[in-house]
Amino acid sequence: MFMRKIGVAAAAVAGMAMLSAPASAEETFITIGTGGQTGVYYQVGGAVCRLVNRGTEDHGIKCTHTTGGSVDNINGLRNGDLDFGVAQADWQYHAYNGTAPDTFPDGAYKDLRAVFSVHPEPFTVVARADSGISSFEDLVGKRVNVGNPGSGARATMEVVMEAMGWTMDDFSLASELKSAEQAAALCDNKIDVFVFTVGHPSGTMEEAATTCDVNFIPVQNEAIDGLVQEHPYYSYATIPAGMYRGQDEDVTVFGVGATFVSNTDASEDTVYHVVKAVFDKFDRFRRLHPAFANLQKEKMITNNLSAPLHDGAAKYYKEAGLM
Ligand code: GLU
Repeated sequence: MFMRKIGVAAAAVAGMAMLSAPASAEETFITIGTGGQTGVYYQVGGAVCRLVNRGTEDHGIKCTHTTGGSVDNINGLRNGDLDFGVAQADWQYHAYNGTAPDTFPDGAYKDLRAVFSVHPEPFTVVARADSGISSFEDLVGKRVNVGNPGSGARATMEVVMEAMGWTMDDFSLASELKSAEQAAALCDNKIDVFVFTVGHPSGTMEEAATTCDVNFIPVQNEAIDGLVQEHPYYSYATIPAGMYRGQDEDVTVFGVGATFVSNTDASEDTVYHVVKAVFDKFDRFRRLHPAFANLQKEKMITNNLSAPLHDGAAKYYKEAGLM
């Protein structure tokens, strides 16, 4: 009885599949590397997949997304585990140019391709209100979450530490919690401060600011001036007043941009359809997360992209009159 039911159901499903897709349609499964669930990358991947999967019947592409972080995502593209990834502009630059051998020991990754850029990501420093931290320099001697290896946030923290002349020994504790764990650790008083390069608003910051009293610490000094002046992918950035509970003033920090990348293994057709799914339904895409509210198509295809544009993306941008 049970078996027969399954048999009938399977036949019905098979029948439906035959009606809805031509026999020749090939399915292409794509995976996008994103970041922790309380960050914004995860939302980018979710938004892109949602729009792509609405058109699976037409183009045959089925999209899923994983967690990770910039460096893991670029490595995942390189070793064939991923088809797309979200990555900070600084790590896109270094991966393509081979300019950060500690982070990418395999040298320049010339098959990396840019697809579009996404939201800005300020280097954000969140301290417990009772920690005695009021400036970035005050991190010395404190319990600091520097971020997990594999995240772009951690890699950028290491660049900043070098510019500041700090090593991990300058902190009383340097923890490597993942982005989704750091707000709880802060409010449970396991750490004094965490550093996270992420778009705003993000779940991580909302969780911290609503669970305990925190301060958002400005990051602007001579060392940071030097980084911003010397590198095209860094600029000063503002976390606008009122973004989070208790954050009543603009906070000046520096930051990077988030980008969406792929590689030359991804077919022109696949990348074309992924870009089309997002750009044809752009207003809908922008509404999927408040960090996307200010995105503009024209800037997304030029800003922060250091690897060459993927051919499939360029094809769509030309067709849409954007290039
Ligand atoms: N910028 C962070 C990283 O590359 C991720 C931010 C996020 O999850 O939104 O690790």
